[in-house]
Parts: sequence; structure tokens; C-alpha cells
Amino acid sequence: MNNQEKLEFLISPEKFFPMNIRRATLFGNMEFITAAERYLDILKESNFWPKEEIEYIQIQRLKNLLSRVNKRSSFWADYLIKNGVNFENLLNLSDLKHLPVLRRDKLADFGNKIYISPLPDELPTFSIFSSGTTGVPFAMLFSEREKLINFPFHFRHLPFQKQTLRQMLSRKSYVMLGLPGFRYLFEKDFFDNTFALLRPSDLYEKEIRENIYRKIRDAAPAFLFGYGSLIAKLALFVSEDEVKLPLFAVRITSESISPVERDLIRQVFNAPLVESYISTVGGNIGFSCADKEGFFHVNSEAVFLEVLDENGHSVQEGEEGELVITSAVSTITPVIRYSLNDMGSLFLHKCSCGSNLPIVKFSGRRGYNLCLPSGRKIRSITLHSRALLVDTGLIRLAKQFQFIQDRLDKLLLLIVPRRKVTDVDEIKIRLAITELLDGEKMIIEIKCVNIIPSRNGHKPSFFIPLSEIQK
Ligand SMILES: [Zn+2]
Repeated sequence: MNNQEKLEFLISPEKFFPMNIRRATLFGNMEFITAAERYLDILKESNFWPKEEIEYIQIQRLKNLLSRVNKRSSFWADYLIKNGVNFENLLNLSDLKHLPVLRRDKLADFGNKIYISPLPDELPTFSIFSSGTTGVPFAMLFSEREKLINFPFHFRHLPFQKQTLRQMLSRKSYVMLGLPGFRYLFEKDFFDNTFALLRPSDLYEKEIRENIYRKIRDAAPAFLFGYGSLIAKLALFVSEDEVKLPLFAVRITSESISPVERDLIRQVFNAPLVESYISTVGGNIGFSCADKEGFFHVNSEAVFLEVLDENGHSVQEGEEGELVITSAVSTITPVIRYSLNDMGSLFLHKCSCGSNLPIVKFSGRRGYNLCLPSGRKIRSITLHSRALLVDTGLIRLAKQFQFIQDRLDKLLLLIVPRRKVTDVDEIKIRLAITELLDGEKMIIEIKCVNIIPSRNGHKPSFFIPLSEIQK
């Protein structure tokens, strides 16, 4: 492929993939594997391309996206006109700033109007129901084909070779702890060895650990993949049990971990540790830098990331602000200047690893910590577990919900119910919360309310920490 062809691939990758890409048909699918390998080869190069070239790709992709949504949705066509954006004249990325920042509650207000009817090529679609940190449940609709084309982005970390991608697509090497968002796309193809309902406390049982070790040996060399908290806890036990596991890589997802946990994982498993910055809405936003721990390179060929201050203006390079994403890859639910509800900072200089892609330092959710009675703190994102939100049915029975730590030993859960909350619901929710408190006791109060008020002029958030109550 010459440079022009590579550029065309990055601008319109959909033209280079087979038409009939579906979930559960990827495993051993040579047509898909060949296209995915080509894409990954190009991404490994574009990592080092000059910024101007990447920006050119972004502008072309955004123009294509806006043209698609304009043609296919009167809602989005009106939205662009109303905000004075003429996509045909989009010459630089700052033109996007005319569009307002969208938050989950705003999208929920817009309702079904935001979805674009799929074309035959884009079928089937699937939806992901997520609560976000704002506690406003919201459904995203995606085209399977559109999503699956982006598979190679999961493998652009420097330690991964082309071999790794082929290995992933032709043998079952995943061992999965927990059920990260990634599974929506790939579980039918690759996830034979999934410990879906595993909780950190389960790992205290030797039998469960032995079973995990066995699965890893069966899948050797295995790719261990899962929630940060589970992998970190497993690392503790692996060192205690003095076992050696045949792993070619470890990937943590859905939760960020501390530097201490990161060191432990790397040391114990003796395999490269890779992380990705992924959001339900924004997709695969970045991949961990091989040189700088805790920093991610932005997948700028597919997404455009901005950092904004409280007034919605861009901050200076390196300053912290709200992360806002525009994604060129999602047509059915357009993601145009969407707030990730995360805080972070962006650096534009060339990285010591050689990459020219912008670097994002993620500094946490716009929520805070939950303080346990012993004085220990756990990240509020812990309350965001699948076991609590999905398995108890909370996410479906609540229009909105909010956790408030109003005392050191008490957690209040407010629910704006969609239907009656039964005793059985309550018991399930209580048990799931207790499970997350890592053995500490707190009083859990569940209260149904008509409205969750905003605080200090801010929109209601998913979690109100004790520090906020004590103010
Ligand atoms: Zn780097």
C-alpha cells in the first residue's frame, strides 16, 4: 500500500472491510482477519505520522460523519443549522466549537430523535444500556459492523505484535475476570473462559483461584483481561500461592488502578500490562503509552478529544478540565461533542515513545471517593459495578438514582423509580452494596423519591461524597 492508500484506509476504513461483519462470526474469519491486520499495520505507522496528517484525517472523517447525519436525520440536520455549522466548509477542528457540549441528561431529553435509522449495511444494531456517573440511564444504539471495524484499536499498544491480533482471532486465548463493556462485541467470538460474576471476595476461596489458574493454563499463552480490582487482587494471591502463569499480556479495563497495583500486576504476572481508555459512548478513546505510566495516547484517527473549562472554553495545554469527545465512527448514535464526565489533561508534544498522537492524562471521574468506616477509601466508581447496577436490576427499575454518603458509616441510595421497588429488589441491592464494601459495615438506606435535586447549582451526580455533605 502506498501512502495515499493508507490515508484513504484511515479516512474510510469501512470501505476496506467485508460487508457482512457480525458478532459471533469473527473467529477464524480470514476476510475479517486480513482487513483487521491491514488496519493495525497502518495504525502502527500513523502513530508516528506528523500531526498535520492526523488532523487532515480527522477533518475528513468529521465532514463525512456530519454529512451522513445531516442527510439521514432531520433532527441532526436542524441541530447543525441551528448552531451555525456548515459541515461542507469545515476547514479546521475548532469549527466544531459552535456546537454545544452534550451531556447524558440532555441526550436523554432529546429522546429517540438522536438515533439514525440504519441502512441495510449497518444492520444488525445492538444497544448498550448504561447509567453513566450522572445516574441518568441512557441507551446507546450501535451498528455491529461499525463497531467491529474498530477492533484493531484494541491492539495498537506497542507491546502487541501483528501476531497477537491473529492469535486473538484464531484461537481462544482470552481469560476474562468480570464482564467489561468490551464483551458486548466479542464475547460470542472469544470469551470461552469468562468468570463473569467474580467478585474480589470470591478470590479468597482457593477452589475458585485454582479454577482460574487452570483456565489460564488451558489457554496458554493466555491474555488475561478484566476489571482492575479483580486482576490486582488475583495478583496478590498468585504471589502468595507461588504459581507461575503462562500469560502473554494482561489488560485491565473499566476501572483505573493505583501505581502500586500496577507494579504488583506487572511483577507477579511478568507480562506486559496494557490499558485502554474506553467509554460506552465514546468507544475506544486511547491506549496506554509504553513509556509513560498512567498516560494514554488518543486514537486521533477515529476520535477528537477536547479539554474544556467550567465555561466550556478550551483550557491551555496540560491544564485539567472536562473531557469532551467527538467520534467519527458512530453513525447510529452520533457522538458529537459529548461530555465523558471525566476530568483530564491533554499534551500535544511528541512523546518519548516516539508517538505524535496527543497524550491524555485521565484524572478521574467527576465524582469522588467513598470513605469506609475504617478510614479506607474506595473509588466511587466501585459503586458502578455490573453486580450492583445490572444484576440487581437497579439500572432498569430506576429513572435515576444517586448514592449519598451522609455519614461515615452510612450510605443513602435515592431512587426515582420507574416501577414499584419491591422488598426483593431492596434485598438484592443491599446485598450487592454490602459486597462492594470489602467486608466493612455501613448502614444502607434506600429511599424512593420523585426527584433528585441538584446541589450547589450542579446537575445531580451519581455519587455525593461525605466531603460534599460536610461542607
Ligand atoms: Zn508515548
